[in-house]
Amino acid sequence: MASKALEAVSSEGAVFPGLDGTPGLILPCPLASIDALLGPMIQFCRLNMDVALNSGQVWRRIGLMGGTFDPIHQGHLVVAEEARERFRLERVVFVPNRQPPHKADCRITSPEHRFIMCVLATADNPCFAVSREEIDREGPSYTIDTVRAFRAQLEPKTELYFITGADAVLEILTWRDPDALLEECHVVAAYRPGFDLGMLEQALGEEKARKVQSLPIPALDISSTDLRTRVRSGRSVRYLTSPAVESYIRKMGIYRD
Ligand code: ATP
Ligand code: MG
Repeated sequence: MASKALEAVSSEGAVFPGLDGTPGLILPCPLASIDALLGPMIQFCRLNMDVALNSGQVWRRIGLMGGTFDPIHQGHLVVAEEARERFRLERVVFVPNRQPPHKADCRITSPEHRFIMCVLATADNPCFAVSREEIDREGPSYTIDTVRAFRAQLEPKTELYFITGADAVLEILTWRDPDALLEECHVVAAYRPGFDLGMLEQALGEEKARKVQSLPIPALDISSTDLRTRVRSGRSVRYLTSPAVESYIRKMGIYRD
């Protein structure tokens, strides 16, 4: 299970359960390389996404949790869980971006590492899934393209909730086609205590701000930036992200330089 450290999982030979009786994720042992991990992870996600989105049931509300997830941490997981509960979402699909347009100049860890860490952190939650929609799409990851790609796979009645932090939503006017985005999905701005909601109206104008759903999140002062800094300086990230992600970062030697 994802709650065990990755060593434990891999020394047992596996296993994350699949959704609704689909095959689980079998991790290769030992965890030698990213390539050895990717195949089973991609297969597992594909099956889970199929069950999550195309199982013949008509889903009414699906959340898409957008981010760079470099790495994924407990703050992201809490946001997804709060959104799931508040909006009664049947599934929350994590969509790690390939190339965030607003972080074009930043050094970002390879999409495959970020994807694997998202799978490790979410695999034990049957309501969570991870999509490769943005990772497999060349070029900058525009949210409107992602929303439309999901729309095309879903029943017209399904409502899509695009969930991200309020800090990101403040910049929505700089995103590609914000008007269409606000029409085609619910945009959820997750905010922490201390965030001034008036800033949304200031940044977006009254009409657009009214379309954004704000979602209060308990204060968790965790960020991917802080995790990367901690790893680089040899400090612990235990309890800030899931044990499997912590092990993965250590084993693969990411964020050390
Ligand atoms: P970075 O420090 O590299 O910017 P991040 O921790 O903000 O990373 P992102 O992948 O950019 O992570 O996060 C996606 C969204 O999740 C962002 O809009 C961000 O505001 C939100 N988020 C990140 N950490 C938290 C947290 N601890 N509580 C609530 N929301 C968070
Ligand atoms: Mg951020």
